[in-house]
Amino acid sequence: MSVLLRSGLGPLCAVARAAIPFIWRGKYFSSGNEPAENPVTPMLRHLMYKIKSTGPITVAEYMKEVLTNPAKGYYVYRGMLGEKGDFITSPEISQIFGELLGIWFISEWMATGKSTAFQLVELGPGRGTLVGDILRVFTQLGSVLKNCDISVHLVEVSQKLSEIQALTLTEEKVPLERNAGSPVYMKGVTKSGIPISWYRDLHDVPKGYSFYLAHEFFDVLPVHKFQKTPQGWREVFVDIDPQVSDKLRFVLAPSATPAEAFIQHDETRDHVEVCPDAGVIIEELSQRIALTGGAALVADYGHDGTKTDTFRGFCDHKLHDVLIAPGTADLTADVDFSYLRRMAQGKVASLGPIKQHTFLKNMGIDVRLKVLLDKSNEPSVRQQLLQGYDMLMNPKKMGERFNFFALLPHQRLQGGRYQRNARQSKPFASVVAGFSELAWQ
Ligand code: SAH
Repeated sequence: MSVLLRSGLGPLCAVARAAIPFIWRGKYFSSGNEPAENPVTPMLRHLMYKIKSTGPITVAEYMKEVLTNPAKGYYVYRGMLGEKGDFITSPEISQIFGELLGIWFISEWMATGKSTAFQLVELGPGRGTLVGDILRVFTQLGSVLKNCDISVHLVEVSQKLSEIQALTLTEEKVPLERNAGSPVYMKGVTKSGIPISWYRDLHDVPKGYSFYLAHEFFDVLPVHKFQKTPQGWREVFVDIDPQVSDKLRFVLAPSATPAEAFIQHDETRDHVEVCPDAGVIIEELSQRIALTGGAALVADYGHDGTKTDTFRGFCDHKLHDVLIAPGTADLTADVDFSYLRRMAQGKVASLGPIKQHTFLKNMGIDVRLKVLLDKSNEPSVRQQLLQGYDMLMNPKKMGERFNFFALLPHQRLQGGRYQRNARQSKPFASVVAGFSELAWQ
């Protein structure tokens, strides 16, 4: 670890990051007030029409329409991330975050026998900042990765964000290949010469030895909400408010609905959120990792099957009523890691969730911060580095609210032999960086 971190990964402050006091989505409260009025957005008009024609919709359908409707969805047309957007994420706060994740992938690649090729696959890459920081680490450690063929695969539903990602990541001189009708809707070459492709669905990413990354991705997947009543579980729906024009409201379904199947039989809470889409994605990741090796790293805010009502909205760095002006605010719900673990069970091993401050500490954030501080004479840069560290690590800020969770092949934790590259075959190390202190094998 010390070799990597002390060797001064990457340019010191080449990566300008947001000034800090913005809201992150893991947070529940802000000084913001709800908008006094309820503007009739194109999305509200669309939803009112839909509800009038076919009846109230589930919260999951509401979330899906509002966030990813191809014509009017929030992610499809808003530039929502960062200082000028609606919320801020760890990679946008500090370059160290992505650097340490880059080291995590290299550490896993080394621990599992240094395969001759791997795919780096990110789900929901936002502005491309995180993968950019990871690729910078790969470049800096070119001597370690020199005989390895790397390709980058981004799963992104937003055309607007995919354009921003391409601007951040690709080499201008190599024109992007675009094919809107194809599952691979865009292709190019990164600034460091690595092939990069865009997909709308994980299903379309080629199977093969891969490292998967999902940072603040699972929290935007649609959730069904349920409430316990004397008659049993009843699902929460979104309906038109008959009392106020152009306003939506929550109602309870009069009878049982199919998504109830996702609630555990021994559930003791009286209000739960379930996310079938998260289960489908974890199953797909687990099957891929079991079949071809690699690992998945999921980082998000969430709980271990304990929280009840976490569905919320963010607009302009303030908490926002989820039913007001739909399409103008981000919608999110805490990730239930106990559900992710259940969906992976039997196929792959899982680690975590562990708190962000523990994971980053184990990955050597303090050493990396010190290197960057020692190299910087600029007070504003030093201040930004320290503020960024505090935001990521402080238990009252992102340090405790965000969690890391990993999926790994069973053999990775059992000391089995690595099969893919017989020449370099060696037993798997049992220590997984981040979940234990980073140590080079
Ligand atoms: N990982 C980034 C961005 C998080 S925001 C960061 O941490 O900064 C959520 C991201 O997921 C956005 O890029 C959004 O467009 C994308 N997204 C939302 N729903 C998606 C879906 N169903 N499939 C693929 N990407 C999705």
